[in-house]
Amino acid sequence: MNIVIFGPPGAGKGTQSKFIVKKFNLYQLSTGDLLRSEIKNKTQLGFEIISIMNSGELVSDKIVNNLIEKFVSNELYTNKIIFDGYPRTLVQAKNLDDLLKKYKQKIDIVLKLSVSLKTVMKRILERQFQEKRSDDNEETAIKRFKNYEKSSEPVIDYYKKSNLLKVVNGEAGISEINSEISGLINAIKGWL
Ligand code: AMP
Repeated sequence: MNIVIFGPPGAGKGTQSKFIVKKFNLYQLSTGDLLRSEIKNKTQLGFEIISIMNSGELVSDKIVNNLIEKFVSNELYTNKIIFDGYPRTLVQAKNLDDLLKKYKQKIDIVLKLSVSLKTVMKRILERQFQEKRSDDNEETAIKRFKNYEKSSEPVIDYYKKSNLLKVVNGEAGISEINSEISGLINAIKGWL
């Protein structure tokens, strides 16, 4: 099965993706991680995106769309991907559908982690000390949250219409969220 995990920065997408990957034998495709590794490896793309990422804006649809095809087309990952942080715009959501269709796959469930700005701020400021991400500071975090709200709304509607969307309470503790997500995935697996 292919899963999309969705939520504002600091919602716990990364943590939950890692848990799902282990439990259900999937591969995590985090566009944020892919972009950060371009910067770390000082590639041409890395130079192009560093200031955008540090400012908390989204990089262009074209850039992220190009990054994901390599994974979707790889047979090793067929029907085994959890998309973490992608799609973030309607253009990306439509691109993902087209790509999956091209490689005879589909999305089976979209998990939306729902969290307040207050919780997000608390988590991001904690993460600032642990992971030292250059975009984890108060000002950028607020900007990323606002961007998320604005760009994700049409994406959420899009998945609601296709009946794929499941909302998870991201305010709960990590293990409670783990069990809620497991229950949802197991229910879908029973259907497949
Ligand atoms: P994340 O690790 O998912 O919080 O993403 C960190 C940053 O990477 C975001 O603030 C964006 O600048 C960029 N990014 C990651 N995924 C996407 C995406 N799907 N579309 C546009 N920008 C993205």
